Amino acid sequence: MADNCIFCKIIAGEIPSTTIYEDEDFQVILDINPASKGHALILPKGHYANIYQLPEDLAAKAMKLAKKLAEHMTDKLQCDGFNLVQNNGEVAGQTVFHFHLHLIPRYLDGANKDLLTWNNLQYKDGEVKQLEELLKC
Ligand code: 5GP
Ligand code: ZN
Repeated sequence: MADNCIFCKIIAGEIPSTTIYEDEDFQVILDINPASKGHALILPKGHYANIYQLPEDLAAKAMKLAKKLAEHMTDKLQCDGFNLVQNNGEVAGQTVFHFHLHLIPRYLDGANKDLLTWNNLQYKDGEVKQLEELLKC
């Protein structure tokens, strides 16, 4: 448990939360300020600040759990779509520095219609080739 981490305190039961799923590795809670009805957060029980620190086996388990919950929540909430969101670093919008995966049900008639939209940029000549060489792995 990390000092002053709100999600560690939730997992330790020191701060109340609404838990919709729990197993030995994860607790899934409702977000306190939801982007939509049913917005939930998958939290690993161990403290890992972000995707870089999260062990690979837990990353795989988190995605497996996300699939299971996306199906379950879509069935129960009758939502029309679903976003998985995961922020790393302040510049990327992370505000709680304990890894978490957002499960966000989307509704045709719901709030936050512009959630996750951005302005599309254009690559300059040669830039795509440079990126291909840099990133190919
Ligand atoms: P981030 O911006 O780091 O990706 O997401 C952090 C999320 O945690 C936000 O959506 C925020 O509403 C949620 N959150 C922050 N504090 C609490 C809390 O005490 N309880 C719950 N359930 N959610 C929280
Ligand atoms: Zn923590």
